[in-house]
Amino acid sequence: MQELVRLVRKYRVTSGRKFDLADFDPADTNGLDADFKDDAQALLREGIERLGELQEKLYAQDRWSVLLIFQAMDAAGKDSTIKHVMSGVNPQGCQVFSFKTPSEEELDHDYLWRTTKRLPERGRIGIFNRSYYEEVLVVRVHEEILAGQRIPPALVTADVWEERYEDINAFERYLSRNGTVVRKFYLHMSREEQKKRFLQRIEEPAKRWKFAAGDVAERAHWDRYMKAYEKMIRHTASGHAPWHVVPADNKWYTRLIVAGVIVDTLRDLDLHFPKFDARKRKELEAAREALMSEKGR
Ligand code: ATP
Ligand code: MG
Repeated sequence: MQELVRLVRKYRVTSGRKFDLADFDPADTNGLDADFKDDAQALLREGIERLGELQEKLYAQDRWSVLLIFQAMDAAGKDSTIKHVMSGVNPQGCQVFSFKTPSEEELDHDYLWRTTKRLPERGRIGIFNRSYYEEVLVVRVHEEILAGQRIPPALVTADVWEERYEDINAFERYLSRNGTVVRKFYLHMSREEQKKRFLQRIEEPAKRWKFAAGDVAERAHWDRYMKAYEKMIRHTASGHAPWHVVPADNKWYTRLIVAGVIVDTLRDLDLHFPKFDARKRKELEAAREALMSEKGR
């Protein structure tokens, strides 16, 4: 587990100053090859188990909340990573929300409104499958979406993206100051791997439902998306809300790294079950005596 925790730091970005997406290889497995897959599976199982234990303490302690944000191109594996990595967590302590094209009601509000309503409670892990980061990704690639957001035109200037980064940073700083630990994942997949996965979706009956023709059209904007992701990470990576650029061409590796990051995050919180002081202990003692002295049933 220690090794895994060390390994994941390689993908952590806490400052955007020198960030260059080209430094990250989507096919990276840190030299571990497919033969390692079985060991990786055992390590992942261990990670998942550890995660379950830590999450129980998080819940019992009821102080911190953890917000995990997932962003990626289509078919990069957000859904399956979330499914696998969180499989050992008590469903009561975990909430997953997916954010799609905004509804009419959502467009009637500022863009942080819909995600703010879904922030995790104390003691919980909240997962955002896509998030307010779409506001500097899909909206930046397709500027016509911005025009449909009903923002007073005088407020939409050439600085709009810089302003969004600034507001998102301020929002995440605010969250972290109030006990929400924010960790962000960009599942970094290559264009070739996406093509392969789309073809699989078309060919395999069990995967066909996942295929959306529009996703193929979106590939035409690949380079602009990559630029938008790079700028986003440059401007919004911070010590309190770091990005993790997770290699996503090999699903087993993606899962391992994401699990490692979450374990590392929870371990850093120094979680423990609530402590019992002398008064509480007395209460417990009295309760036990009452139970033991019950007559009959
Ligand atoms: P799946 O794996 O099922 O394809 P998905 O997350 O891609 O999952 P979809 O319903 O296919 O879900 O797509 C959601 C779409 O909504 C994405 O294309 C995304 O860019 C778009 N979207 C999300 N947030 C916004 C937003 N704020 N403004 C405009 N579009 C958005
Ligand atoms: Mg989709």
